Amino acid sequence: MKPATELVRHRRLANEPYGSIATPLYQTATFAQPDAREAGPYDYSRSGNPTRAALEEQIARLEGAACALAYGSGLAALAAVVRLAAPGGEVLAGDDLYGGTDRLLSRVLPELGISTRHVDTTRPQAVQEAIGSHTHLLLVETPTNPLLRVADLAALAEICHQRDALLAVDDSLMTPWLQKPLDLGADIVVHSATKGLGGHSDLTAGVVALRDAALAERLAFRQNAEGAALAPFDSWLLLRGLKTLGVRVDRQEATAHRIAAFLAEHPAVTRLHYPGRPDHPGHALQRRQARGFGPVVSFETGSVARSAALVDALELFPVAVSFGGVGSTASLPCRMSHASIPESVRQARHLPEDLVRLSIGLEDPDDLIADLEKALSDGRPSAASVVVARL
Ligand SMILES: *Cc1c(COP(=O)(O)O)cnc(C)c1O
Repeated sequence: MKPATELVRHRRLANEPYGSIATPLYQTATFAQPDAREAGPYDYSRSGNPTRAALEEQIARLEGAACALAYGSGLAALAAVVRLAAPGGEVLAGDDLYGGTDRLLSRVLPELGISTRHVDTTRPQAVQEAIGSHTHLLLVETPTNPLLRVADLAALAEICHQRDALLAVDDSLMTPWLQKPLDLGADIVVHSATKGLGGHSDLTAGVVALRDAALAERLAFRQNAEGAALAPFDSWLLLRGLKTLGVRVDRQEATAHRIAAFLAEHPAVTRLHYPGRPDHPGHALQRRQARGFGPVVSFETGSVARSAALVDALELFPVAVSFGGVGSTASLPCRMSHASIPESVRQARHLPEDLVRLSIGLEDPDDLIADLEKALSDGRPSAASVVVARL
């Protein structure tokens, strides 16, 4: 079946007596057993729940994975993945990463005896040189958040596999609607499902999808042993959100293209980052390895004060972290989602302090562009106010 069909046609739960078209919500902690000696298919929701199982099966199907697991947040999913590196080993990670991921790698993993180094994953040669015998896992975002730089996943998979390292891809920005890292050779896909997969900004969740069943078995054991699994109601909400993933992302992206075209021409924008623009350095690669460019556009204005005033002046873009929801949002990554990265590190990684990140939602594109136009011209007299002043 084609992806659009897969999104709406979940497999019905076995033994569901009423023909419920929507997956039932099993909002229960525990399950009565047939008798004291015989176990039923489920016994306790931390270990397994039919609603969560339906979600995990659907994610595995969309990613083309052997198995998928759902967690209470994207970071819980990432924490499970990066701990596949053994003590004494190393995680090699991209140098433009979600701030919370950076904090996990720099502050939590060392306590477990796992070290981290960062490398520019958009340059396969740099990864080839950096990867070592104790590199257990390479963690990549592509396009990166918030600078939207593109890494060649097939090339990185080859490098990892020559060195017996796992390639894990944080695909939160793309979702399987646009990009399927396992098809390009990655071993593991991880998502903050809080973002585009859920799509409605009404839950936090994370998912991991794996190509290898034995590796999945290890993670499934820990998911139960550590109690990190997603709750039934949030699993149900996520299943519901997934059904509209394709139409949401296509529409968000069409609007993002229009907004990027508008910003590219605007004199107040000093630099635009959107891989959907033909002059973006990662454009051709992104076209090759993904079906699209996603809902996030970022840009610079040349001044932190100007960027802050602009974001404050927007009316249709609430100032909020996160992306991929049905409503547009705006943020200053260095003050918000990436503030947990120390300033000196942000500077070393060339993360511009004046960067504005927009997540494009489902509003009418004309309204969003009018709002941006107005906010970008705030602080400069508009043509209309000049006329009024002359009168
Ligand atoms: C938000 C985000 C995360 C963390 O996910 P949570 O659901 O907030 O825990 C990880 N990676 C990326 C790329 C993100 O944008």
